[in-house]
Amino acid sequence: MSLPPSPTRYQHFIGGTSTDGHSSDRIERASPGHGVVVSTYPAGTEADALAAIATARTAFDQGPWPRTTGAERQAILQRTAQLIRDQRDDLGLIECLESGKPIAQARDEMDWAAGIWDYAAALCRHLHGETTNTLGDGMLGLTLREPAGVCGLITPWNFPLLIVSQKLPFALAAGCTCVVKPSEFTSGTTLRLARLLKEAGMPDGVCNVVTGTGDPVGQALAESPDVDLVSFTGSTAVGRKVAAAAGRTLKKVALELGGKNPQIIFADADLDAVVDAVVHGVYFNMGECCNSGSRILVEESVADALVARVAEASATVPVGDPLDERVKIGAIINDAQQAKILDAIASARRDGAEVRLGGAPLASGAGRFVQTTILDRVTPDMAVARDEIFGPVLTVLRFRTEAEALEIANGTLYGLSASVWSRDLDRALRMTRALKAGTVWVNTFLDGAPELPFGGTKQSGLGRELGPQAVLEYTETKTATIRLGPYTPKWL
Ligand code: NAD
Repeated sequence: MSLPPSPTRYQHFIGGTSTDGHSSDRIERASPGHGVVVSTYPAGTEADALAAIATARTAFDQGPWPRTTGAERQAILQRTAQLIRDQRDDLGLIECLESGKPIAQARDEMDWAAGIWDYAAALCRHLHGETTNTLGDGMLGLTLREPAGVCGLITPWNFPLLIVSQKLPFALAAGCTCVVKPSEFTSGTTLRLARLLKEAGMPDGVCNVVTGTGDPVGQALAESPDVDLVSFTGSTAVGRKVAAAAGRTLKKVALELGGKNPQIIFADADLDAVVDAVVHGVYFNMGECCNSGSRILVEESVADALVARVAEASATVPVGDPLDERVKIGAIINDAQQAKILDAIASARRDGAEVRLGGAPLASGAGRFVQTTILDRVTPDMAVARDEIFGPVLTVLRFRTEAEALEIANGTLYGLSASVWSRDLDRALRMTRALKAGTVWVNTFLDGAPELPFGGTKQSGLGRELGPQAVLEYTETKTATIRLGPYTPKWL
């Protein structure tokens, strides 16, 4: 794999055609691993967003898609899954170059995404309401599930195709039409996906993509009275803004936000497995992962031995050129994120944490890399124990009792995921019940399947993606109350 000879020039995708939109301004995206411009996208304006919303509105109110059968929707979603699989190498390369993630991982993510499209395709045939037949002889209740309408889907840069695939196929399965706003750093694969949908037979105007920055493009989606639902994945700070803007028109809101996910390791756990899961959990996707296991809570009696083993394993993980097939930790997305990671390490040093490994940028030509870093002797009051770092940085806290572990684990604003490592199943289940998180793993980490719902509690989000309910998130419920036989006057 090598760098492309020239940047790919992308356009918005509105109403089934590619367009530069209302402005000639463009966003240049340089590969985080090489510092070379690999893509350019239109810097979308409010007018572009409004044009796409109007197109999606017309496609919803007058177009065929909300009126198609489940079987027709299924066929198009399945074909899209296959096209993603067919183009996994191309799509993976785009994501590697735009986001800095390792090429081998990027290709795996394309397969994951295709699997989600397959799963959503299956759900198209299962979308139905309910009947209520217990209202007496004279009454029948029908509960209809209808598509929610025009959906605004706003996504981040860390898993571009995967995250849009946790939203878009379910919205389409429900019969909605969409305007997608990908991250301004990684818009390439979302634009390619819109073209694949067209190739798979999707009617024009159903899936539109507008590139550009959050303000104005994302903001316009959150504010517009013509958008019925906004689904956002990104930081908690921006999620609050999106919810506030959406509140002005009281549209439906789904939010997938940040996390500070604890891995709780008891002394009786299989420590060989723990070492692998800790290293994977914290360094996967350079730590730029909402589910990152960036905070381990270790029972005091095994903490020193475990940290020594994790440090030894961490020092062997290959960091470097994302195009190298052997690399497991690629480049950091942008200068701001690199500075945020280094600031977090500096704040930990000031607060008295012990840097057991790394702690500095990795010297490398034009790329942007951070050493695998372990911060030991972190206490729950330190900023690094509470705030998301989003980098290859592990924080180690210690505990003595189950109650103390639980108090530390639940002691942040977040509640996305957590894991418990213990051979004592009673204890693992007690902890599973008491942890405030949308996902709890027992004796594993980062496992998942399209069948399993995903989302956060507390300030990690609102609503759930994936799982059999995912399609219902994109529906409205309509109650039909039907009088059987003659109406009996009851008021006059
Ligand atoms: P971000 O919040 O900066 O941006 C996310 C998206 O929102 C981008 O497309 C951005 O352009 C857009 N945006 C920015 N300002 C906006 C505004 N005012 N109105 C509407 N849209 C706006 O997040 P990021 O830096 O791209 O991604 C990293 C964050 O995403 C992390 O906090 C991470 O935890 C979170 N994340 C969460 C999940 C999850 O499923 N819970 C998954 C991945 C990432």
